[in-house]
Amino acid sequence: MSVAIVTGANRGLGLELVQQLLQRDWRVIAGCRKTDVLRMTELAGAHPGHLHVMPLDVSSERSIAAFVNEAQMVTRTLDLLVNNAGVLIAGERYGEVAAKSLAQSFAVNASGALLLTQACSELLRAAGSARVANISTVMASLALTDTFRTPSYAMSKAALNMATRLLAAELAPHGIVVTSFHPGWVQTDMGGSQAPLAIADAVTRLLERILRMDAADAGRFIGSDEDQELPW
Ligand code: NDP
Repeated sequence: MSVAIVTGANRGLGLELVQQLLQRDWRVIAGCRKTDVLRMTELAGAHPGHLHVMPLDVSSERSIAAFVNEAQMVTRTLDLLVNNAGVLIAGERYGEVAAKSLAQSFAVNASGALLLTQACSELLRAAGSARVANISTVMASLALTDTFRTPSYAMSKAALNMATRLLAAELAPHGIVVTSFHPGWVQTDMGGSQAPLAIADAVTRLLERILRMDAADAGRFIGSDEDQELPW
């Protein structure tokens, strides 16, 4: 049975990714900052041995190390890592951008994905061929940016895209494909209710594309439309 890790798994896209992976008969390790979420407890109860809910704060090196140790107790291989955890600090305006917002966004959105992937190297390599999906955003595109909007989010996700390129180059020789994805604008807490895409539809499409990842996708930035290439 294939094994996946999903970060930021207790709500939004992460929770739906977990549910759809379980429906596809994957074993899932769900990394959650808060593990005592009722939905996660219910899901774990409904999928004994298939869903492992473990504490993970991707902005903490110590938490990443403890999480990977715990993951290694339930699996020796990892077929898929979805770096989904993310934070968007809304309402930032030029002149008022705070260092703390930038630092927090970089720690979660960019550094967390690189550090967790690095810590999972052994598990990923042991799978023989594996995938790392970094959940980015079109708002990280330098080419498509012409207004001063959510700078902490946009800058940190652009850094995540660089992590994708760096990791793709480093890990390709080990059969590990690393790719950035924009999931579309989705009705989550982050996306808001005015977003055009329902969570289940967006994740169905995203997951279908993730599961088709192959060597040719290494280091790509893939949009929400079928095989759309986003400009860096
Ligand atoms: P949500 O805000 O609904 O969920 C974010 C998730 O990330 C939560 O589970 C949250 O946990 C978790 N998280 C935040 N900080 C940390 C941390 N330090 N450690 C571990 N987990 C953390 O967002 P979405 O589901 O909408 O977004 C998922 C991903 O998709 C993000 O990376 C986002 O940038 C990206 N994306 C979303 C779009 C959208 O329209 N929704 C569009 C483009 C990209 P907690 O509950 O503890 O806060």
